[in-house]
Amino acid sequence: MQVLITGGAGFIGSHLAEALLARGDAVAILDDLSTGAFHNIAHLVQHPRFHFAIDSVHNSLVLDRLASQADAIVHLAAAVGVQLVVERPTETIETNVLGTHQVLAAARRYRCRTLIASTSEVYGKSEDLPFREDGDLVLGPSSRSRWGYAASKLLDEFLGLAAYREYELPVTIVRFFNTVGPRQTGRYGMVVPRFVRQALRGEPLTVYGDGEQSRCFCHVLDVVRALVALLDRPEVTSGEIYNIGSDQEVTINELARRVVQRTGSDSPIHHIPYSQAYAPGFEDMRRRVPDIAKIRAAIGWQPTCSLDQILDDVLAYERERLGTEEEGGG
Ligand code: UDP
Repeated sequence: MQVLITGGAGFIGSHLAEALLARGDAVAILDDLSTGAFHNIAHLVQHPRFHFAIDSVHNSLVLDRLASQADAIVHLAAAVGVQLVVERPTETIETNVLGTHQVLAAARRYRCRTLIASTSEVYGKSEDLPFREDGDLVLGPSSRSRWGYAASKLLDEFLGLAAYREYELPVTIVRFFNTVGPRQTGRYGMVVPRFVRQALRGEPLTVYGDGEQSRCFCHVLDVVRALVALLDRPEVTSGEIYNIGSDQEVTINELARRVVQRTGSDSPIHHIPYSQAYAPGFEDMRRRVPDIAKIRAAIGWQPTCSLDQILDDVLAYERERLGTEEEGGG
């Protein structure tokens, strides 16, 4: 199969590219390197079945050419990270909505099977846990930028499902829940790489709020396994939405303690008020847990990696990167 991955130089995309190449598929990636990074794919560029274009999904000519050669498109290119979303709301909405519009238009021209990445953010403030794909979505007011991200991703979902219903395009929507692992950058706010880096540098771990908010962290390799299996079963998965995530919940306080313990660091843990961490009026979700019964029933998927395995993998990666940066004087 020939697969086009938009956002393929990013954290999830680069791992997906690797997995598809390893099983014999051909992979093209389209990435503007805005939040992705060339070093994520540098080890793939010599591969005979790998092709990359450094460009934006807004470049319809390039997108059209790549789609014309693809059997499937995995659309991961998007504005990522709560921090980025709050700081640059216009870019976030435009990247997400206009990007997905372009990708679906190209997919329709060449009848590509399409997987669209959405997010657990669309569940918003819902307290109906665990979150089921057919549950109600509870967004906050439009005066708060965070909800612009959720709304833009929701529009992506509507666009994808409409293309399935109106044009019979085989589209599947995936809602990612706190995916973590090697290559994730902490630059845009993600908690696991931030804590691991802070611990390795002996700096305080910055827990926001009282730290009793919880999340479920899923290893990127588990997530990639789900994406590959979903791609392989369009007859089952087209027109459907699937949660992809772990259902093992952990508080951010406990996460901080585990990071300190696994790194052997003597970093203290500091609590920082939300008002200092984010823009005033920022609303955080207290809990976020996916119901993964639907994806399990469809393709037999469930996560396999424990939080400690995830932390050890991130730790090994960050140790190596810190070493390289220090050697390079960075
Ligand atoms: N968080 C934290 N310290 C940090 C970064 C994040 O305490 O340095 C918290 C954040 O407020 C949230 C959780 O960790 O409650 C997960 O944040 P992340 O940005 O990784 O993902 P989110 O679930 O918010 O999309």
